[in-house]
Amino acid sequence: MLPRIGARAVRESWQDRFADTPDVLRSARHEQTIVPVLDFEIGGSEFITMAGPCSVETEAQLLATARRVQRAGARILRGGAFKPRTSPYSFQGLGLEGLKLLDRARRETGLAIVTEVMCETDMEMVAEYADILQIGSRNMENDSLIVAAARTGRPMLLKRGLVATVADLFRAAQIALDNGNSNLILCERGIRTFETSMRNTFDAASIALMKQLSHLPVIADPSHATGRRELVPAAARIGVAAGADGLIVEVHPDPDTAWSDGDQSLNFEEFDAMMASLAPWIALREDEMRLRGENDLHAAEVAG
Ligand code: PEP
Ligand code: MN
Repeated sequence: MLPRIGARAVRESWQDRFADTPDVLRSARHEQTIVPVLDFEIGGSEFITMAGPCSVETEAQLLATARRVQRAGARILRGGAFKPRTSPYSFQGLGLEGLKLLDRARRETGLAIVTEVMCETDMEMVAEYADILQIGSRNMENDSLIVAAARTGRPMLLKRGLVATVADLFRAAQIALDNGNSNLILCERGIRTFETSMRNTFDAASIALMKQLSHLPVIADPSHATGRRELVPAAARIGVAAGADGLIVEVHPDPDTAWSDGDQSLNFEEFDAMMASLAPWIALREDEMRLRGENDLHAAEVAG
């Protein structure tokens, strides 16, 4: 029967809407997940920045970038050794050589490494070098890759697919959880919409939504979300304000000569300036988390 005009609509609950991914949702059983990486954590009080080139190109490129992003406050070095590319004729990544360079950068700087794994046959090799296994947007619906990554026991960064809904991303996360890996980080990296002036449309509200609904840490990727380096700092601020636990940002010594994603990569000075401009926003976030923690404590005391 149709509701009568003027009748109150029944608001669908989030629990019903995401009923097929119960373990991704925040609940009494699933409190905030904190992912340990080297000597720090993702999803806790510290805002974590991951930065580095889209692709690992050369030793000089990677080490120079690692040193600079570390100095500016990044905790994690990003860099693809295996690259999913739109064109089969584009640079496909250095493979094992790239992983070895990432390892060298980790030893020199103490930064953790996040790098993408594209197929199951590479899994063991990539997991040996990566502190965090990145599942790229194009593979978010590759269930067998997610299962294989989950079973390595390594923390995973799960990027939202190009045309995936939040529910689709949650389903991918549920697969990793079902396979025994709860060290999962979700990433909003922009989605395809009718807007074509930017590479993707940054779905900032999805960050707020995922933070409210899920216990998993959520990070923002302002680089792939916009595709334009001049928009990256603003999108990063929006990510922090939306409640993200961290960022993943592309940085290159000379973006115009980058072998991939140069248009959206910041140079060192631009990255330094972005990090400085984010500091007050990150401080606000930390204040808010402290307040929320105190309120929770107070509520627990009143209830107890
Ligand atoms: C990347 O991080 O360089 C990348 C390929 O990202 P995405 O999978 O989000 O396109
Ligand atoms: Mn990229």
